[in-house]
Amino acid sequence: MSVNPDIVTTPPKLMRAIRAAMEGTESVQERLDDFVTAITSSMRVNVASIYLLRQKGDVGGELELSATKGLKRSSVHRTRLKPGEGLVGHVALTARPINLADAPSHPLFSYRPETGEDPYKSFLAVPILRGGRTLGVLVVQSKEARTFSEDEVEDLLTVAMVLAEIIVDDERIGGKKAALKGIQLTQTKPETISGKAFAPGLARGHAVLHRPPVAPANLLASNIAQEELRLEDAITRLRAHVDVMVSGETATLTRASKEIYEVYRTFAYDRKWVGRLREAVHSGLTAEAAVERTRNEQRARLMKVRDPYMRARLGDLEDLANRMLRLLSGETAAPQIPDDAVLFARDLGPAELLDYDHDKLAALVLEEGTMSSHTSIIARALSLPLVGRAAGVLDRVETGDDVLVDAEEGYVHLRPLDTQLGGFQMRLNIRGEMSRAYDQLRFRRAVTQCGTEVDLMLNAGLLVDLPQLDQAGADGIGLFRTEFQFMVSDFMPRLSQQTDLYRKAIIAAGDRPVTFRTLDLGGDKILPYMDPVPEENPAIGWRAIRIGLDRPGLMRYQLRALVAAGAGRHLRVMFPMVTTVQEMIDARALFDREIERAKRLGQELPAKVEVGVMLETPALAWQVNQVCDVADFVSVGANDLMQFFFAADRDNARVADRYDPLSPAALSILSFIADGCRINDTPVSVCGEIAGRPLEAACLVALGFDTLSMPVTGIGPVKSAIMALDARALRDLILPNIKVTTRLSSLRDTVRAFCLDTGVPV
Ligand code: PEP
Ligand code: MG
Repeated sequence: MSVNPDIVTTPPKLMRAIRAAMEGTESVQERLDDFVTAITSSMRVNVASIYLLRQKGDVGGELELSATKGLKRSSVHRTRLKPGEGLVGHVALTARPINLADAPSHPLFSYRPETGEDPYKSFLAVPILRGGRTLGVLVVQSKEARTFSEDEVEDLLTVAMVLAEIIVDDERIGGKKAALKGIQLTQTKPETISGKAFAPGLARGHAVLHRPPVAPANLLASNIAQEELRLEDAITRLRAHVDVMVSGETATLTRASKEIYEVYRTFAYDRKWVGRLREAVHSGLTAEAAVERTRNEQRARLMKVRDPYMRARLGDLEDLANRMLRLLSGETAAPQIPDDAVLFARDLGPAELLDYDHDKLAALVLEEGTMSSHTSIIARALSLPLVGRAAGVLDRVETGDDVLVDAEEGYVHLRPLDTQLGGFQMRLNIRGEMSRAYDQLRFRRAVTQCGTEVDLMLNAGLLVDLPQLDQAGADGIGLFRTEFQFMVSDFMPRLSQQTDLYRKAIIAAGDRPVTFRTLDLGGDKILPYMDPVPEENPAIGWRAIRIGLDRPGLMRYQLRALVAAGAGRHLRVMFPMVTTVQEMIDARALFDREIERAKRLGQELPAKVEVGVMLETPALAWQVNQVCDVADFVSVGANDLMQFFFAADRDNARVADRYDPLSPAALSILSFIADGCRINDTPVSVCGEIAGRPLEAACLVALGFDTLSMPVTGIGPVKSAIMALDARALRDLILPNIKVTTRLSSLRDTVRAFCLDTGVPV
């Protein structure tokens, strides 16, 4: 397509009329009236009508005739149709235009005498879409029986898009004053949407959309030729970009990622998609608005599709549209956000999250996402409350909405009522007071009332975690999950990048120990650049040390980076998911080979080395004495240990909470491990999530664990509980109860009562 930018192509008459209607300062109703008048005179039709969806409770709604030129004015705000009812209702339901030369003879035609539409034959209706949601239907009719041209359909779609943005925007700015009589387009009602808490916390703030719709002022082009040029340029650059994605890095791409990129390429070269964009610009939209409109149409259609494969394609299209918008805006700088931003997105890549100024982010809400996604990991590292799987939230939230994010229970409250605000504010205040109290404890050691000193360590894995060491007053890093670096990057981190990160962690910790856990991949931790191995039960499949020992090249490479990072310093390394003592012996031998290699090459060696084992399988618990012979320390990975002990998948919400880590069975195995390590004089710690919960942590200390490693949010609460705890008394309470004779299914209530009686804040 060749376009000459020097020729100013003015938009068609209809667009000029619409632009003029937009520039008025009237109410929305008056603007709608102006729109229908502009449409009838520019398109030479007898009737133009706007039907808007009136919200009715939480489900469905009715299409209300909200403005018309040509039908009886008395039917405005009186004539109503259900989605699916009549031709107009059908357009709303399917989100597709209907273009008929003789509408009354169509089987779906439903006659409404009060509108006086008898004389009109030809009929063109298009959906008014926004963000994939149908807001209403725009209809033109004329007496003469003719089919509308493709250009006319395009024009009407363009007007529909402008309409959607104007109405929503006007109501957002104008509040009650601008509200259409009885029609609720933007959501003003309070709504609560449930999801899953992927990163804990509470936050109050204002909604910011990760990809906001194009502002109404930027919807209509002033020079079509120039817009066409911008579009062509963006298409060319998008295609080049996708071509590089597919072929440029083939060496590091896996089959799976190549397939995804191939899908992108198919879309980027799809003549239909590009054709739709061109038509939209040709009809008078800016290139951005054209992308947005095409996206809205695809979204509205694909959202109605059940096939999961097709629905997944929606994400690919969305991503492509986002890339295109970025190319058009030339966006390189970080997105600007207000101070208390609650960021809403369908899904968000880790790098995209890190693009935002995280000091200004109050919380994150995703329609999709998973607990173990990279974005969730980073949100936890940033102490950013995150609610994911909040189905439908993007259709309900508007930029600037007041939002409460409850990432303790997994709820998002949009436009909350004053009564909700009160209760929430109280919880926030309590949290604030607690965190100030925890701050006071930062420089104090966690020592129990009976004199046991407990080391409280941080679970970490990324650079963003490191400042938390001092902020929380942690005694070191008890678990450095090295796989995070691999998970958040698009390509395998090079040796130098691995060494660099490990060194930075050691330096940040100063004299405090850092325990690096070698790659724990497999299970739910999949790398985008590695071919996934399909497995029936990935959690008990080929993962962690099993991969490490079967593919020693990868593990030795990492151990090499660790040895280099530890030069002249204290290096602690441990292996995940060890099940047999032999595995630990083999893994340790690989580490020793790397030390030997460094010696041979004359490299500086670590000043001190400790090689430990993660105890996270019941089989190894029964070998605790033997494994203590070959490990310098033991770290109990309670998350995995409990999932294997109770045969309950930790990532499956239906079963993950079925067992209680304070049940006699769980406490017995933990006590058995603690005793085994003590007898063998082997230092032992716990590094699963339970170590960061005060009640559970109190029990762990009572059982003899004196090092606990946890997410940053746990350190303050656990420290204050430990400082008030008489661990000996609690031990005396627990031990008789974990004997086989106990009838209690859990000691939780007993321990909680003990803590309350003795003033332990849990
Ligand atoms: C655990 O299993 O308890 C653990 C700390 O490791 P991860 O959660 O990374 O599997
Ligand atoms: Mg584990």
